[in-house]
Amino acid sequence: MIDPHVHLRDWNQAARETLRHGLSVAWRAGLDGVFEMPNTDPPLTSRDPILRRIDDADAALRGLGISLFHGLYAGITAVPRQIEEMVRAWRELFPRVVGMKMFSGHSTGNMGILLREEQALVYRTLAALGYTGVLAVHCEKEALLRPDSWDPLQPASHARARPPAAEVASVDDQKELAGRAGFRGTLHVCHISTPWALDLLRGAHQETPPAREPPGLRVTCGLTPHHALLDAAMMEENDGILLKVNPPLRPKPMPSLMLQRLFGGDIDWIETDHAPHTRKDKTQGFASGVPGLPFYPRFVKILSDGGMPRKRIEEVTHDSICRVFGVTIPARGRLPEPDLAREYEFDPYAALAPGMQVNP
Ligand SMILES: [Zn+2]
Repeated sequence: MIDPHVHLRDWNQAARETLRHGLSVAWRAGLDGVFEMPNTDPPLTSRDPILRRIDDADAALRGLGISLFHGLYAGITAVPRQIEEMVRAWRELFPRVVGMKMFSGHSTGNMGILLREEQALVYRTLAALGYTGVLAVHCEKEALLRPDSWDPLQPASHARARPPAAEVASVDDQKELAGRAGFRGTLHVCHISTPWALDLLRGAHQETPPAREPPGLRVTCGLTPHHALLDAAMMEENDGILLKVNPPLRPKPMPSLMLQRLFGGDIDWIETDHAPHTRKDKTQGFASGVPGLPFYPRFVKILSDGGMPRKRIEEVTHDSICRVFGVTIPARGRLPEPDLAREYEFDPYAALAPGMQVNP
């Protein structure tokens, strides 16, 4: 099992999570590999911090005495020279530099490339450099966010402040810009959360078939456990603020529709978007993100109990990730330890009944 979307913090954010602790939890959750996002502090947007990160991860793994695959995404900015440096780092350091990450809207870490023109420049630059790897994109169009709707006293308002339309419009932009630029890599839509964005990605309901997706452009998407199992109304309960994530939890029935699409094959893999914060960061700083690694095995069990065939489980937890990224990571099939939720200050799934069943 591989979690291709985790935030392991450390460095200036060691109070939230560290490489050593996060990698240890990943190992005990039964994972064989994790791919880490670049919005660390300092960020992984140049060669030196990338090299330092690889060294630090290796030291943590050595200290723990475990062999788990650690890969990271190089962070992309809208500066062509910087993109070139990241493509060189990918060529030199792949598979440790396993792909690229672009934030099309501001989430945690202010790495947003917000303007459509700048996003177009990123795709043109990657195409010109002959980049054929994965570009993972956080898709929420900043212009369609409604920050005025956010009221910390009513945490469920977060879902209205970051509406589905923002995700849908951003997915539309990315697909169009990547296609127009002749991008030859894989466009990966991170943590997809709405059926409309998925329809768009899969080319359904388009008025002018054939889809604009030109030959050569591949698109993939991932689903988080929280977008599949939790819904926006849960933010109205006590401690609802702890469930603030980007993109936000969606109203029912969207989570179960997304789960159906995972069963049905429209979604390529699961990814936790493991993003720990301290309780204080959540309740006073209104930080977005929840721990995810401890719940990976629980989510897989829910899928299995819900009737997902073993072959499909292997596909969404491992095989399709290895295929799309072009990496080989042995699947060891280790059993997870129980009670990993206690490793963090809160359990976002505490309200779910134990042994929860899904009916896809
Ligand atoms: Zn993330």
